[in-house]
Amino acid sequence: RQSIIFAKRPAGAITDDTFIVRSSTIPDPGPGEVLTRTLWLSIDPYMRGRLNEGATYTTGTPLGSVMTGETIGEVVASAHPNFAPGDIVAGAFGWETHILSGGDGLTRVPRDGAPLSTYLGVLGMPGTTAYSGMKDIGQPKPGETVVVSAACGPVGATAGQIARRAGARVIGIAGGPEKCRWVTETARFDACLNHRGDLDAQLDEACPDGVDVYFENVGGAVQAAILKRLNTHARVPVCGLVAQYDDPDPRPVLNLNLLLYKRARFEGFIVGDKPGRFAEWRTLAAPLVASGELRYCEEIVDGLDNAPAALRGQLTGRNFGKLLVKVADL
Ligand code: NDP
Repeated sequence: RQSIIFAKRPAGAITDDTFIVRSSTIPDPGPGEVLTRTLWLSIDPYMRGRLNEGATYTTGTPLGSVMTGETIGEVVASAHPNFAPGDIVAGAFGWETHILSGGDGLTRVPRDGAPLSTYLGVLGMPGTTAYSGMKDIGQPKPGETVVVSAACGPVGATAGQIARRAGARVIGIAGGPEKCRWVTETARFDACLNHRGDLDAQLDEACPDGVDVYFENVGGAVQAAILKRLNTHARVPVCGLVAQYDDPDPRPVLNLNLLLYKRARFEGFIVGDKPGRFAEWRTLAAPLVASGELRYCEEIVDGLDNAPAALRGQLTGRNFGKLLVKVADL
């Protein structure tokens, strides 16, 4: 068994010594325990926050322990009444090739449904995040202008497609022409702007009537450019601030005058706060994914030992779509 251990707290960006690989013997399940073989590991920006000292919205990963992460795995041995060998399960037990658990937090995933990786992306936590933020806070209406940052990623791509289905005009922001092409041609956003170019000029052209909803995934310079264009009664679901995650002391760009003058609504949210949303979204989205109406893209990295480099790359935009580590074949 291989496990990736959180070994050294990074001061800024993740470095080569942030994680180490530990090998050990594959354990046998004791009474009430389940052993799963990991097939897929999800790599998500929130993981950077787990490496910081002190709590964010939840406690961090303790130094010296297995790195936190969601996985899809196959049960290989079970002494638990609810799980049998061959079951496919999702859980949040960490960066390991084999996971021993008491079964709490393991949910069964259909073997013959959507591709298993989608339960970590468009049908899983990131898709549910997009759904929650748009449903509770963004609330896009027909004809409104909605801007979504990190538009090629699983949260942004899904959020934009939800807004488009609600009849809004949707503008994505992504890092580079290839990502922008995917966002417009495959995810069918109305336009996509490259934040590595002159974003102000592109926003002037794409949003002549201002912005009614800004689905915030990145913060930093992108946020500053969009906030200037908010319309009266704009809504801003504050989902993530990935441009700032490596910065120990990010400078705020929001001037509270804006909230007052524009009567704007900014609201932070965490997907886990409403656990019922996961099943609700999966029920809604599974047929849309199956029919091809809801599009997604994935970047797959092979081998658990490549997970640290994958996370490091995601925080600077090197991933193209939902980032996954393929740990083993089914
Ligand atoms: P992505 O796959 O979209 O990966 C993050 C992307 O952020 C990168 O690919 C990059 O895309 C973009 N990015 C990185 N640095 C910068 C920068 N300096 N300026 C602009 N963009 C940058 O991630 P997800 O779809 O999984 O997550 C998107 C956001 O949602 C994250 O902020 C994440 O933390 C948040 N989130 C929040 C949850 C919640 O409960 N609130 C739950 C899940 C996710 P590009 O090259 O296009 O710039």
